[in-house]
Amino acid sequence: MKINFIDLQAQYRAYQEEIDREVADVMASAQFIGGPKLQKLENDLAAYSGAKHAIGCSSGTDALLLSLMALDIKAGDEVVTTPFTFIATAEVIAFLGAKPVFVDIDETTYNIDPALIEDAVTERTKAIMPVSLYGQCADMNAINAIAAKHNLPVIEDACQSFGAVYNGKKSCNLSTIGCTSFFPSKPLGAYGDGGAVFTSDDALAEKIRMLLNHGQNERYKHKLIGINGRLDAIQAAVLNVKLAHFNDEVAARGRIGKAYTEKFSGSGVIAPEIRPDRTSVYAQYSVRIENREAAAKALNEKGIPTAVHYPMPLHLQEAFALLGYKTGDFPISERVSGEIMSLPMSPYLTEEQQDFIVDALKELA
Ligand SMILES: *Cc1c(COP(=O)(O)O)cnc(C)c1O
Repeated sequence: MKINFIDLQAQYRAYQEEIDREVADVMASAQFIGGPKLQKLENDLAAYSGAKHAIGCSSGTDALLLSLMALDIKAGDEVVTTPFTFIATAEVIAFLGAKPVFVDIDETTYNIDPALIEDAVTERTKAIMPVSLYGQCADMNAINAIAAKHNLPVIEDACQSFGAVYNGKKSCNLSTIGCTSFFPSKPLGAYGDGGAVFTSDDALAEKIRMLLNHGQNERYKHKLIGINGRLDAIQAAVLNVKLAHFNDEVAARGRIGKAYTEKFSGSGVIAPEIRPDRTSVYAQYSVRIENREAAAKALNEKGIPTAVHYPMPLHLQEAFALLGYKTGDFPISERVSGEIMSLPMSPYLTEEQQDFIVDALKELA
C-alpha cells in the first residue's frame, strides 16, 4: 500500500480543471502582483473567518512579523509565547530584537497553559502570542481575559488552525490579530509560500497593508519602514479554488481525525485531546508513543511515513541560547517533544489506509 504523509497530488487531481484555469487566467492577464484574484481571496477569507479584514501576505512567518511590527514591538520588549511550536513563532519576536518569554504547555492539548501566563507577564510585556497547535485553538477566552487585565494585544498563531472553530467562532478571528500560513502542507495550502493576517481593527489593518508593501500607501511615498511581504496572484488563484472546497475538506479532516482517535482508544497510543468547546482541523494528527524512534522505523518499513512536530522545544534551540533557558525549564514541552509523532493525515486518506496505519501502530504500542 502506498501512503503519502499528506496527499497533495490527490487534491490536485480533484480540482485540476479549476486550478489550471484560474492559474492560466493570471498568466494571460499578466497581473502577477495584486489584482482581482487577490482581492477576491481577501474578501472571501474575511467572510469565512468573520474578521473584518483579511490581508494576504508572503508567508505565515511574515504574517506574524507584520503583526508584531504593526504593534510596534521592538528591542527590549517581551512577548509571551509557547516553546512547543515551529521556530517561526518565536523567531519573529527575536528578529525584532524583542524577547520571547516562554510558558509551558498543557499536557493534553499541547497548547500554552493559560494558568502559567500571568507569572510571565512583566512591565516589559507587549503582547501574548498563543499558538493553535496541530489545528486546535488554544484557550483563547482565558488568554484574552489575562490580556485584557494587563491591557495587552493577543496574536493568535493560527498557522495550523485555519478552519478550526472555537466557541462558535473561527480561528484567526478570536483576538486582536490572527495569522495563518498557506504553506503547501497546511490545511489551506497554496502552491508555494503564502499567508494572511486577520483583524477587525481598521487602524491595524491599514498599517499592516502599508508594512507589507514597503511602508507605502501611495507609490514611492514611504511612511514606515516595511518589507516586501506581498502574496502573489498565482498563489491567490490557487487558494481561491481551494477555499471554495475548504468546508468539505475541513469536514473530512474532522471525520478522519476522530476516526483515528476512536481506533486508538484502549491502546498504548495517546491520541490528541480535543476540548468539547472547539474543533480541530488536524493540520497534524500527532500521537504520543514510547520508543518513538523504533516505532517510526517499523512503520517506515511498512511504507507508512511519519514525522515529528517538533523534536526539540524552542528554549533548547541553539539560536535561542542567548535567552539563557536550560533543560528542565519547561518539563511538559520537553517530555512531549520526546514522545510526539505525526501520522499521515489529509482529507484524501482512505479508511483502508487508515486501518493499515492504526493496526501497524497498535502492534507496537
Ligand atoms: C507553518 C507555521 C508557521 C510559519 O508559516 P510559513 O508560511 O511556513 O512561514 C508559523 N507558526 C506555526 C505554528 C506554523 O505551523
